[in-house]
Amino acid sequence: SREIRLASRPVGLPNASHFELATVPVRAPGDGEIVVRNEWMSVDPYMRGMMIDQKSYARPFQVGEVMDGRAVGRVVASRSPQFAEGDYVFHMHGWRDYAVAPAEGFEKVDPALAPVEAFLGALGAPGLTAYVGLMRIAELKDGDAVFVSAAAGAVGSVACQLAKARGCYVVGSAGSDDKCSWLLDEAGIDAALNYRTCGDLTEAVGHAFPKGIDVNFENVGGPHLVAALNHMNTFGRIALCGMIAQYNDVTPSPGPSNLSLAIMRSLKLQGFVVRNHLDLKPQFMAEAGALIKAGKLKRRETVEEGLENAPRAFLKLFSGENFGKMLVHIA
Ligand code: NDP
Repeated sequence: SREIRLASRPVGLPNASHFELATVPVRAPGDGEIVVRNEWMSVDPYMRGMMIDQKSYARPFQVGEVMDGRAVGRVVASRSPQFAEGDYVFHMHGWRDYAVAPAEGFEKVDPALAPVEAFLGALGAPGLTAYVGLMRIAELKDGDAVFVSAAAGAVGSVACQLAKARGCYVVGSAGSDDKCSWLLDEAGIDAALNYRTCGDLTEAVGHAFPKGIDVNFENVGGPHLVAALNHMNTFGRIALCGMIAQYNDVTPSPGPSNLSLAIMRSLKLQGFVVRNHLDLKPQFMAEAGALIKAGKLKRRETVEEGLENAPRAFLKLFSGENFGKMLVHIA
């Protein structure tokens, strides 16, 4: 069985040398354990933070040890009454061909509901993140004017479509014309900005929001957050979901220079981590499932073939080469 380990801790943008591929024997399952052949794994921006030795919400990856993350696979051996051979399961032992672990850490997924990889994307944590950020953190109301950054990504693409489904006016920003066309034509949002070519971002956001922004779903930070703050309406809400523009910073970036607008305009800014809001999962699954069925929530995925290419897939998140959810197809 192959696995990918953290080879060294990056400073700045990671590259292939920070990962190593190793081969290990598949351990026989103990009592209560199962063996899973991984078929799909997720690479996510948060993993950048886990590559360095900093206090985070989980134990960082250790140099020389296999990394972990979300994955979906098929049970090939079971010593637990909870699972049978052939079951599809979701779990946290990604970055490897085979997972062997106690049954408690696995959750069945229903391949009749959607292709199993969807449980890593639109129907998984990224989709739930969009739902939590909009509904709970930003307290979305029908008809709100909503600005989403990294709008063609895993979280952003769902956030855009959930807000459209509530009758909101939605503008997204993304890093290519292709992504902007998809957002307009497929995701059905009202306007899309290519932040690389639009010129001054504050000005471009202002043109896109003649009546101001009620809700900002912030995935990027930096100049995106500054531009959003400049156009927030009184009592606007900002859901701080991610700041990917800063994850590879070598020295800390300065905060938004216009944060005092939050006072003058009575804004609410709230950060969140999806795993603290798992109570919303049933509600999200019902809503997202219905929207997918009705063709109102389009899944978009970018697939990298082969476990050995998982580091490359991960690095693509920072160059914007992924479109929708970045996945690795293992087997
Ligand atoms: P995406 O699928 O959106 O992939 C990342 C995208 O970010 C890229 O495709 C790229 O798109 C954009 N990007 C990368 N670097 C920059 C940059 N310097 N400036 C502007 N855009 C950039 O990833 P996810 O949907 O998984 O994550 C999106 C955000 O949500 C991240 O910040 C992530 O950390 C956060 N997140 C937070 C969670 C939580 O619980 N709070 C849970 C999951 C994700 P483009 O081509 O448009 O530049």
